[in-house]
Amino acid sequence: MKPFAYVRPSDVAEAVRDVAAEPNAVFLAGGTNLVDHLKLGVARPDLVVDVRTLTSREVTDLPDGGLRLGAASTNSEVAADRRVRERYPVLAQALLAGATGQLRNTATTGGNPLQRTRCVYFQDVTTPCNKREPGSGCAAVGGYTRYHAILGTTAALPDPTAAETCIATHPSDMAVALAALDAQVQVLGPTGERTLPFTELHRLPGDDPSRDTTLAHGELITAIDLPPLPAGTRSTYRKVRDRASYAFALVSVAAVVVPGGDVRIALGGVAHTPWRATRAEELLRGAELTDDAVRAAMDVELAAAQPQPGEGGGNGFKVPLVHRTVVATLRALTPEGQS
Ligand SMILES: Cc1cc2nc3c(=O)[nH]c(=O)nc-3n(C[C@H](O)[C@H](O)[C@H](O)COP(=O)(O)OP(=O)(O)OC[C@H]3O[C@@H](n4cnc5c(N)ncnc54)[C@H](O)[C@@H]3O)c2cc1C
Ligand code: SF4
Repeated sequence: MKPFAYVRPSDVAEAVRDVAAEPNAVFLAGGTNLVDHLKLGVARPDLVVDVRTLTSREVTDLPDGGLRLGAASTNSEVAADRRVRERYPVLAQALLAGATGQLRNTATTGGNPLQRTRCVYFQDVTTPCNKREPGSGCAAVGGYTRYHAILGTTAALPDPTAAETCIATHPSDMAVALAALDAQVQVLGPTGERTLPFTELHRLPGDDPSRDTTLAHGELITAIDLPPLPAGTRSTYRKVRDRASYAFALVSVAAVVVPGGDVRIALGGVAHTPWRATRAEELLRGAELTDDAVRAAMDVELAAAQPQPGEGGGNGFKVPLVHRTVVATLRALTPEGQS
């Protein structure tokens, strides 16, 4: 592990100043992702700024009826909160589908959505990876692509050495639920506070796969807000994985059905970001959620999918798997599915 300086500032403003002043500085929260990357040599910061005890650990009521999750609240604490379980079951279920009890007791609301991809080549410093080392190429193209993206990638690029190529997926379960809930992210940065929609936190690889998010250097997540949902809203999370526990999603679906016809669908395991299926949502708005209607809407959503060839057969299986998983998830939210 490369040596680095470690500081624990006295408040969030000082933490932001510390990171902003050092180009090669990072925040540390629960450390369950960052410390692994330090050990592997994937992360090589000069300065680690510990914010774990600086942001709020509380889940608090907002005046509009929503909830604020302090950035230091743990995944276990949020999943166990009665208000989260009753009003936002999709979030509680997504959290409990992630990692293990021990990890959830340490992983935080700020750190979980910012965990980095589990692409095996990203974690192996002996292989080319545009995300880890910009311009070095992408070992995943033509490699082991079972866990890789089918939507929003730059995979159409024929040259795997192209600096833009990246077919990695975002790994967080929590983030998929937060995308479907239209959560808002509270951020403190060197120029002050701002709020951004959760769906704008992550970015597609575009021409710079090394950047996972739209946060500027030094910007700290202080909280994540859950907007109020109308009475009668139903929501759920479904995760498909290779093992029943302790495994990342091959495909996951967070669905929220709001009285009045609004349907929100977010997908995990398919893109560089938690993927809002906006084309399907538009087609399903106000419609009866029959299996056929959902299938037709997902045909449109997945028309742009670019499955990857690769060792072991690639990831073409994800297209029908997404179809089936979305159908089953929405069926569970219909009155018939709930009975
Ligand atoms: C064996 C194993 C299995 C796992 N399985 C799953 C799974 O199935 N599903 C799943 O979703 N996750 C899974 N995880 C990942 C785990 O959930 C994440 O490691 C954890 O949520 C990260 O949170 P943390 O607080 O420990 O973040 P850290 O490791 O402290 O930080 C992660 C990143 O976020 C940045 N950061 C942290 N806090 C802030 C903040 N407030 N503002 C700005 N930047 C910040 C850090 O600089 C770092 O880049 C697994 C992890 C392991 C080790
Ligand atoms: S898919 Fe992305 S993270 Fe994985 S090797 Fe290619 S560039 Fe790196």
